[in-house]
Amino acid sequence: MEDCVFCSIIKGEIPTDILYQDGDFIVIKDINPMAKIHLLAIPKVHFPLLSMQTEEGVQVVSRIIHKISELAEQLGLKNGYRLMINQGEDAGQTVAHLHIHILGGENLDARWIN
Ligand code: 5GP
Ligand code: ZN
Repeated sequence: MEDCVFCSIIKGEIPTDILYQDGDFIVIKDINPMAKIHLLAIPKVHFPLLSMQTEEGVQVVSRIIHKISELAEQLGLKNGYRLMINQGEDAGQTVAHLHIHILGGENLDARWIN
């Protein structure tokens, strides 16, 4: 998708440190971290919202959630983490390419992100 920052990162057009990747998704550090560890898991397939998912998208999101639990220790999240998806305007979604925030590395209490 043109003019999508996450598609550009996935294509390698914007140099970014990729912490993990496989055929389905990448994990990168958020450029503006809201916790000691703030990562983004980004499906390689472009779709803006959960409501716009194809069957492929459904599979990828479920794989990502499962895979993050396997990667937790390697990502520095062995004490736990919070997953979050901002959906649309009311949630303050700023990048229209579905992504899962992964927050941890400290006690998050009831912190919200925006
Ligand atoms: P949203 O508000 O859409 O749920 O989250 C988008 C996230 O992407 C924000 O936390 C923002 O800091 C992050 N972000 C935006 N542009 C870039 C970028 O070019 N590189 C990285 N690593 N993160 C980005
Ligand atoms: Zn995209």
